[in-house]
Amino acid sequence: MLTPRLDIARSNRSVVTLGKVQREALDELKDRIATGEMRFVHLDCPVCGGGSLSPVATRDRYGVACTTGVCTDCGLMQTNPYPDASSLDWFYANIFARLHRGTTSPSTARFEGRRGLAHEVVGWLRQNGVPASGLAVDVGCASGGFLQGLVDNGYTGIGLEIDADYAADARSRGLDVRLSTIAGLAEAGEAVLVSYVQVLEHIVGVNDELAALRARLSPGALVFIEVPGLTSVPTMYNKDVLRLLQLAHVWHFTPESLGNLMAKHGFETVAITPYVRGLFRVPLETPATPPMRIETIAQVRERIARLERARLLYWRTWAIKAKAVLKRVLGRSH
Ligand SMILES: [Zn+2]
Repeated sequence: MLTPRLDIARSNRSVVTLGKVQREALDELKDRIATGEMRFVHLDCPVCGGGSLSPVATRDRYGVACTTGVCTDCGLMQTNPYPDASSLDWFYANIFARLHRGTTSPSTARFEGRRGLAHEVVGWLRQNGVPASGLAVDVGCASGGFLQGLVDNGYTGIGLEIDADYAADARSRGLDVRLSTIAGLAEAGEAVLVSYVQVLEHIVGVNDELAALRARLSPGALVFIEVPGLTSVPTMYNKDVLRLLQLAHVWHFTPESLGNLMAKHGFETVAITPYVRGLFRVPLETPATPPMRIETIAQVRERIARLERARLLYWRTWAIKAKAVLKRVLGRSH
């Protein structure tokens, strides 16, 4: 049984208010799915390798038809089946920026937002053992906002970015950003910190990514990861679990599942918050693999139900609804 709001059969209306550019992108995406040109393939769970899922949603925040399921073996929530490689290339080239940001050009507001995030987390990183200076490498750095925040705090910063427009924008801001995947880490030099900020949830081949990362790091190296997930809904998504769900996010981590995945690649967890912000380290000696922290389907479903109850008690839920209704009414009168 699905929570009714997460079921496309009940409604395919977006819970996010969209502008014109966003609505056009959404229509193109829905058409592509309806005609079957967007091909979806089954993925095995990247944490435990399992292939069995229990569905919890059949739509995303925009009302796009896609299935979110929970791995019946380890509890990782995931968008699965997922667009195949060429469908996903089309999605990122044509839809993603227009739908999510309403623009295809890098924005200063977003840059400053990410810069502020770095200022917010740097104290926490240092409390947990990250040196106060040295080389910091941000992977998937976009315009370099987070990187700039690290530089502001005394680090030498290098960014890796695969989108040429974003890399150029970052360079125009005076940052050292290289057009590269994680493969560019070796050339960057010995980093005291490697970061992935809201990046890992987009990477289908997350095991290849983490294996490549691990291979390029020395014992003692530290990795900061921030990803959205069920436990970050109360602070990040106006307490609405439906706002978390989007086709662009293939994995929805919790502190438990992210810890499981990192342990699989030989990283130990230094600290992790419900947000989900984690600091991981390459151990000095090969550690015994810690036991997997399994989440059951019942636990995940209860978490979703609890979030839905909290949403209904949250004043902003009703303020957002009232604003959307008002906008529709005013829109009609023009
Ligand atoms: Zn699993």
